[in-house]
Amino acid sequence: MDTNPRPRTVAKIIDPQPTLEGAGVKLKRSIGGRALDYLDPFLLLDHFESDDPEDYLAGFPLHPHRGIETVTYMLAGEVDHKDTLGHAGAIGPGDVQWMTAGGGLMHEEMPRPRDGKMGGFQLWVNMPARLKMSAPRYQEVAAASIPSFVREDGVRVRVVAGAAGSVTGPVTEIYAEPEYIDVELPAGCSFVQPVTRGHNAFAYVFRGEGNFGVGCDLGYRGELDGQLAYAPQLVVFGDGDEVRVETDGEGVRFLLVSGAPLAEPIARYGPFVMNNEEELMWALNDLREGSFIWHDDPDWARARQTWRESPQAG
Ligand code: MN
Repeated sequence: MDTNPRPRTVAKIIDPQPTLEGAGVKLKRSIGGRALDYLDPFLLLDHFESDDPEDYLAGFPLHPHRGIETVTYMLAGEVDHKDTLGHAGAIGPGDVQWMTAGGGLMHEEMPRPRDGKMGGFQLWVNMPARLKMSAPRYQEVAAASIPSFVREDGVRVRVVAGAAGSVTGPVTEIYAEPEYIDVELPAGCSFVQPVTRGHNAFAYVFRGEGNFGVGCDLGYRGELDGQLAYAPQLVVFGDGDEVRVETDGEGVRFLLVSGAPLAEPIARYGPFVMNNEEELMWALNDLREGSFIWHDDPDWARARQTWRESPQAG
């Protein structure tokens, strides 16, 4: 039996779809759109980045979530957030917020510039049927507390969840056993990251370009040179034990994310992701009747009314 780690080939490369979301935020959607509806357990990947505040200041006013986790990772600027449970704060440059919506919460998320810049990502991770109605939970990690390392050749890695090299990320106890790392390679470098076999994996390239799936031996004509992906593109990998990437004349920066597939039926309606239509009806009914977890603030009551009249995802 061959015990060498098997490199993952590139299954496909996706160009993100320009999308208008929330109250009018321009973003690039690469999971959750026409090209790739679902990469179990990942439901959505949005990249929002602009020097023009008009592209994002309208933000994501009050909206509900149920049955999923939302992961916000910022490059620049911040997202001011608050929820109906009284939890509020700002997610700043380099910070991550891993929010487990579970049985439900309502929140608003408002992107704001810092030094004229704003950019980041939001990933939605599905939850298994038996945990969908669990209590909401936040894991918030400030930039300074996200472990990182720099190799001698200049390769930089920040680890949000999972492990890379000898570094383990601070986000833990997530059902999908996710790995979420931010990798930057200068020109002329290579990088190999072990990824659990059977987990779905993608790289989201947001700076520069790189060859992914390098050195995959398909057994008949030697090793592949990989496939070139450039910012902004999503690289979806086939199965295997590790992801390999090389740079040539230009550097690359990408998120590398993987997780255990749930293999359960899904029913989705905007910010609710359940297992069947009936559960979606319950979610809408709870929203109508106010049996989502409420806060008695009249401002929130008005915002809830607005959302019911014109629902937006976010
Ligand atoms: Mn949200």
